[in-house]
Amino acid sequence: MDFNGKTVIVTGAGKGIGREIARMLVERGADVIALTRSSADVDALREEAGCRAIEVDLADADATRKAAIAALPADFLINCAGTTELQPFLETTVEAFDRLVAVNTRAPMIVAQEYARFLIKEGRKGAIVNVSSVASFVGIPDHAAYCASKGGLDGLTRVMAKELAPRGIRANGVHPTVTLTPMAVKAWSDPEKAAGMMQRIPVGRFAEPSDVAEVVLFLLSDEAAMVNGISMPVDGGYMIA
Ligand code: NDP
Repeated sequence: MDFNGKTVIVTGAGKGIGREIARMLVERGADVIALTRSSADVDALREEAGCRAIEVDLADADATRKAAIAALPADFLINCAGTTELQPFLETTVEAFDRLVAVNTRAPMIVAQEYARFLIKEGRKGAIVNVSSVASFVGIPDHAAYCASKGGLDGLTRVMAKELAPRGIRANGVHPTVTLTPMAVKAWSDPEKAAGMMQRIPVGRFAEPSDVAEVVLFLLSDEAAMVNGISMPVDGGYMIA
């Protein structure tokens, strides 16, 4: 997969899976425009990773739209930024629910709208990959708001796939299992919970960011020209277990 001469917007490229995606894209010739929150990550992306970077809080809808417009023109879009807060269903707060939906569901919609509007206006083709989660397929205790936000994202992916593909823009979802990143440390630091999850993964390990990044790049590339609207697990078989 050669991304020479291609410009790719990657949200959440400051850490974890997004950071690995950005690194691989730069290695394969792409010009990466990162949309992320922490200024230290923005500096590192510019100085160490060879990316352009825009600092934005994707929980803020207006700021997200402005950042998406500032990131254009672009050939491809990867919505990778995501966040979680662990709360049992009965204790899930409206505030946490709204925060997660804002970042995990609404922000991908806004960025994709601006990206797709630009491509359609210019008569150009493209592709979008939304990073979802196995949490959109199954109910994971303490993840009510997260599961709901990712289920909502899947709905958006499918509608985008139907509405945008006739205009030359494919949209697909990628669904990682536990992936060894700062988010996983937050969600799976309880050894008992982590062991229970691991037991259900037939390949016997959690994912590395590079496992996810490779699949994202494939779905973005012309090699996947006929793949549209899918939800691709990157889960070592968790979903069949
Ligand atoms: P990390 O927490 O390691 O990194 C997430 C990145 O997104 C960070 O750069 C973070 O910036 C950025 N981000 C989060 N909230 C905002 C915001 N409001 N505005 C701007 N940027 C923001 O997460 P992962 O790499 O683990 O996750 C990447 C994606 O993969 C997410 O969508 C996640 O839901 C999904 N996923 C992850 C799994 C895992 O086990 N790790 C499993 C399944 C799916 P900052 O740190 O500055 O807030």
